[in-house]
Amino acid sequence: KQLTFKAFTEITRTATISVGQHGGRAKCLQRLIRLDMPVPTTVALSFETVRRIAQGKMTDVAAILDFFGEAPLVSVRPSAEGTDWGGPGAILNIGMTDRRHAVMVQRRGEDAANAIYLRFIHTYAVQVAHLDAELFPRVPRPGRSDVAEALRIFESETDEPFPQHPAEQLAGVLRSMARAWEGTSARLLRKARGAPEEAGLGLVVQRMALGVGADESGAGVMQFVDPTTGRGQITGRYMSQAQGRDALALKHAALYLTRDPRGPSLEELAPEIFDRLVGLGDLARARLREEMQIEFVIQEGELAVIDAVRVPRTARANVEIVVALARDRIIPREEALLRVPPRSLNELMHWQVDPAAPRAVLAGGIAASPGAAVGRLVFSSTRAQALAAQGEACILVKRETSPDDVRGMHAARGVLTAKGGMSSHAAVIARGLGVPCVVGAGRIAIDRRAREMRLADGRILREGEVVTLDGSAGEVLEGAAEMLEPSLGEAFQTLLGWADEIRDIGVRVNADTPEDARIARTFRAEGIGLCRTEHMFFDDDRLTVMREMIFADAPEDRADALRQLLPMQREDFTRLFEIMEGLPVCIRLFDPPLHEFLPSDRQGVVDLANALGRPVSDVQARIDSMTEFNPMLGLRGVRLGITVPEIYEMQVQAIFEAVIALGEAGTQVVPEIMLPLVSAQREVEILQSRIEQVAARLRAGRDAAVSYRLGVMVETPRAALKAHAIAELCAFMSFGTNDLTQMTYGLSRDDAGRFMQTYVHQGVFREDPFHVLDKEGVGELLRIGAERGRRANGRIVLSICGEHGGTADSIAFARDCGFDYVSCSPFRVPVARLAAAHAVL
Ligand code: PEP
Ligand code: MG
Repeated sequence: KQLTFKAFTEITRTATISVGQHGGRAKCLQRLIRLDMPVPTTVALSFETVRRIAQGKMTDVAAILDFFGEAPLVSVRPSAEGTDWGGPGAILNIGMTDRRHAVMVQRRGEDAANAIYLRFIHTYAVQVAHLDAELFPRVPRPGRSDVAEALRIFESETDEPFPQHPAEQLAGVLRSMARAWEGTSARLLRKARGAPEEAGLGLVVQRMALGVGADESGAGVMQFVDPTTGRGQITGRYMSQAQGRDALALKHAALYLTRDPRGPSLEELAPEIFDRLVGLGDLARARLREEMQIEFVIQEGELAVIDAVRVPRTARANVEIVVALARDRIIPREEALLRVPPRSLNELMHWQVDPAAPRAVLAGGIAASPGAAVGRLVFSSTRAQALAAQGEACILVKRETSPDDVRGMHAARGVLTAKGGMSSHAAVIARGLGVPCVVGAGRIAIDRRAREMRLADGRILREGEVVTLDGSAGEVLEGAAEMLEPSLGEAFQTLLGWADEIRDIGVRVNADTPEDARIARTFRAEGIGLCRTEHMFFDDDRLTVMREMIFADAPEDRADALRQLLPMQREDFTRLFEIMEGLPVCIRLFDPPLHEFLPSDRQGVVDLANALGRPVSDVQARIDSMTEFNPMLGLRGVRLGITVPEIYEMQVQAIFEAVIALGEAGTQVVPEIMLPLVSAQREVEILQSRIEQVAARLRAGRDAAVSYRLGVMVETPRAALKAHAIAELCAFMSFGTNDLTQMTYGLSRDDAGRFMQTYVHQGVFREDPFHVLDKEGVGELLRIGAERGRRANGRIVLSICGEHGGTADSIAFARDCGFDYVSCSPFRVPVARLAAAHAVL
């Protein structure tokens, strides 16, 4: 049959092979060939070819096989555009037939021939004919009868004899690989890794280098860094008389690569080949500008490099590796920065179980993905997603996971499976997502229907119970274990230092407590961009006073509560100023949605009545009078400040007194005071004059200069539209994108979760606008606000301090709008610093 297009291309130094048409693996093999590495003959099938194969439009694969000459054995491996987009597993030894087996028995001996044929039958049966792997028991040293038995099982299960024509085998392999790529699970997986919807798959067909035979023969994989830490060190495995991935899989049977007191090594067995491999590693690093993992075969004393991929690595190792490459001047610093996805830094900042704390181990398994998490047990991905949507941390427990679980795994804080190993679906995906994961916890029995699991000692754990999953140790611990915050290495600091040199937008932190502020300092935030003062009152003692204050209807009662609050606030601010050591601190005056601070049930009302020494009926009546139908749009923010002036006056006084005391002790602080939920210029005018009065009162009789900067939060559409009027009175404007999103959409922050999934699922919204800034709508208000504000006041400082402040796309957007800084929660500061550098590059 006529091939109307170029179905395949031999990979040579000069062939036209591109990542965009043939995929990353094909391109990489060409690079290896250009470096004179001993790569066996390989051809590349383009995305177009593979697409045709999937559609059944290309039947003549004999031409591919003919290219390899007389009776070849070949392998097929996937070659997607993105090297981490996955793809179907490699299939080796295509071309093994009864006839080829007989020849191989003569040439390489019975054992080798049986092993190779049996492996091929298994792989073909499972990956191409889609038979259950369990039909074929693994045999350590297969004999002829095992081969015959496998052929028999194949025939009885498929009603067809095992194909005895290499071209038929290859056609089957290519078709199944091409179709697997189009399948739903493969699509979901690669989408999770950032591949576009229509991503293509290329395939490479390569002449087999057989790792079996006389002299030293075998297969192995070598890398020159530790894939967990990224530090320079030869790691990998080698196995004599083995092929392909065998060398990786059979850990116990493998040889060491370098000399090792525990056993024989490749270095001793074949010193020349070992030296050559080390040389190739150096060459690859220098010329391919990457740490490569070299997959090799030794065939009767001859080295063949069958593949090389970027060393699979943890996020921590990636940072270590790119910093080392930049230090060795192999790549520029800019590229090092770009090679670290900002979000991947989360993995370096993982929590760990405190090693010093007591640990009650409930179950054990394989430590598949690092970090630890506390959460409630759930037994299905749907539950995990539902709980996550309500802001609940959960640990997903499954016998094993499938691609359908990817979303659930994304939503969970940790994943536990009863089955599986280091490279099982759960393990691979969890590492990719940076979610702590334990797999192969074989002694737990899961009852998915009953939503429970039985431990080895017979205890039953039910859905909703809290456990700690330690993905670094491979254990499940009882309850919420004590956790240690992540420790960050030197390479991490270096990389972020480079990011700081490049970026041109500031990164501050949203910090309410001294603890937050301290973490933010270690992450080198450039100041506090938002201190939500109402959050300083969440602990029990303080909450009572806070309630008394909000609750008071007579001015004397309120004055009393405020007198108690004043020293607490002064102390709070003093500590923040001290920790921040002169960096800017932006304090937002109270913005308590009243319903969050009033008791919501009968017992709460009784407790409050006790605390206030007033009858329950009184208290209930007052609560009723204060209850709002729509508290998010009620007496919040600056509206409270305007209508009950004493509250903001107390806060401002506390700020100024803290500043004065620090000033007398030699530390000068210029606080930033921010008014929340502003919508009219007049609100700012009124508060400006009240704040000035407090300042004047405190200045009187002292020579201390009390200076401050006044600003507003832009959280209502009106504030954005009237930014020119507001900006005249302000030193800064900070866009609160949480409320601004809520009010622009008319979409409740607290209730949208209920239907957001449906909305996103049906494509009404592309993404949840509370997670990903809506650049078209809310973004337009940001642009308008920034532009009008700047026009009226050229010196105004602009920022974003909503949750969006820590995400890469909003940072790029803010920079584009000419904002001065973003402010985000403490653990997002490093991510923001790197993302801000990416925005420049
Ligand atoms: C905002 O609305 O974006 C904001 C930062 O304030 P809060 O989340 O406290 O309402
Ligand atoms: Mg707000």
